Amino acid sequence: MDTPPPAAVAVEPPPVVCAKCGGTPIETGHVAPLCIACRDTLVRRPLPLWLRILTVCTLLLVIGSTIAGIEPFRAAINLKRGERAEQRQDYATAYAAYQKVPAKYADSTRVLIRLAYAAYHTGHDADLRRILRALEGRSASKAEIADVNHLLDQIRLRGR
Ligand SMILES: [Zn+2]
Repeated sequence: MDTPPPAAVAVEPPPVVCAKCGGTPIETGHVAPLCIACRDTLVRRPLPLWLRILTVCTLLLVIGSTIAGIEPFRAAINLKRGERAEQRQDYATAYAAYQKVPAKYADSTRVLIRLAYAAYHTGHDADLRRILRALEGRSASKAEIADVNHLLDQIRLRGR
């Protein structure tokens, strides 16, 4: 007796329902059988909380250090600009640069002495008097004291 030919093995049809919600239709062309709505939800899964906290902390640190670094940077830049202008005897540029030194640093003895020189050479006499009063009684380095004395000599010689 002949055995009957084996029945054709039924090829399992691809799943036609979403593996997550059971809905239809599923989106074709992907390995995981998911409907469009479920795939979108899974793709847009929010970042874990620890990663969000870490990101916020990192951003705050970057922003904080940037803000903290701007003022001393502006002070250094304008002091350097002023000193370079003074070397060229461009006292108007020097005066403008020293005045752009942020207030927090503008009261330093070094800045005040440079500003006094620039004010003297540009005829800002009222400002010069204010600066000299601000310098009175300060402790300063030998070089700074020599600078101020040199300026005072110049002022006396010119009778201003
Ligand atoms: Zn679904």
